[in-house]
Amino acid sequence: MAEYKDYMVRATAANAMIRAFAVTSKDTVEKARKAHGTSSLATAALGRLMSGALMMGDMLKNDKDLMTLQIEGDGPLGGITVTTDNKGRVKGYVRNPNVDLPKKENGHLDVGTGVGNGTLTVIRDTGLKDPYVGTVQLYTGEIAEDLTYYFAASEQTPSSVGLGVLINTDYTVKQAGGFIVQLMPGCDEETITKLEDNLKKIQSVTDILDAGKTPEELLQIVLEGFDIEFTGTMPVQFYCNCDKDRVERALILLGRDEIDAMIAEGKTVELKCHFCNKSYDFSVDDLKVIRGKTALKKYKRPEPEAPVITMEMVPDENGEMKLEASIDNSDSKDEESKN
Ligand code: ZN
Repeated sequence: MAEYKDYMVRATAANAMIRAFAVTSKDTVEKARKAHGTSSLATAALGRLMSGALMMGDMLKNDKDLMTLQIEGDGPLGGITVTTDNKGRVKGYVRNPNVDLPKKENGHLDVGTGVGNGTLTVIRDTGLKDPYVGTVQLYTGEIAEDLTYYFAASEQTPSSVGLGVLINTDYTVKQAGGFIVQLMPGCDEETITKLEDNLKKIQSVTDILDAGKTPEELLQIVLEGFDIEFTGTMPVQFYCNCDKDRVERALILLGRDEIDAMIAEGKTVELKCHFCNKSYDFSVDDLKVIRGKTALKKYKRPEPEAPVITMEMVPDENGEMKLEASIDNSDSKDEESKN
């Protein structure tokens, strides 16, 4: 058997009236699980959203385009944020990664209850001044249905999204992946009916994944009876682009007073990247250098709707308050355009 690797395929069918994507993302979701120490419920929720995002990222037109999917729910998971590009890279986190709930009667993880009621926001940053932002109400909180509803309500593209994450008894990821099929404008009734019949037959994406089906085979099941043309394939991975410089810039944003307060504490400050949980230590000497930089430039706080940098004080295992920062890619664009 060939070595397992995460990848995504895209295809068209019915004379390009249908476009379709499928992904296998076990290692990607496992890497996220390891980084964040997520519960099975949080792994499933994050893994489904990351898998969906990877395929949506493939719809982005330009190399520098970024897409962020934010779920804000009133369930115990507390919200999920995922960012992807069109090169098969994704990162993300769940606000409350340790939450677990009893399984549903069918044995599936109860992602819908974990997410709760709320909104799904899709932010497509194409490098223009204002990113495209679309928000819809969550439909079931099960992620796939919510993305399906998003495509219909916000992008007027009839779609079907199937996502699944299967967890081993040792909490590692056994299978992850999914598909998106979309009807292009002008699609005829016969094609629609046939596709709907196919979709009705698909009970569970996780069952298909667990049977060891590849993304190509998954699309062959979804698009059974259609002439499928595979148009591309791309490796996918969990990838975070944070580094100490970025975190330092987030610190500078806090301003001189905050940094003075940290220096007065006389302790090394640990900052964590929200997306990958990597921690960065800043010694008192580091902080003194950074303090100097606050005077050099005036940093403008980001607009509220642009998820650029968020900092928050959170208690660590010992109940001590600790600063956490999450860094968005927006500032990397500035860097790149300078070069
Ligand atoms: Zn990171």
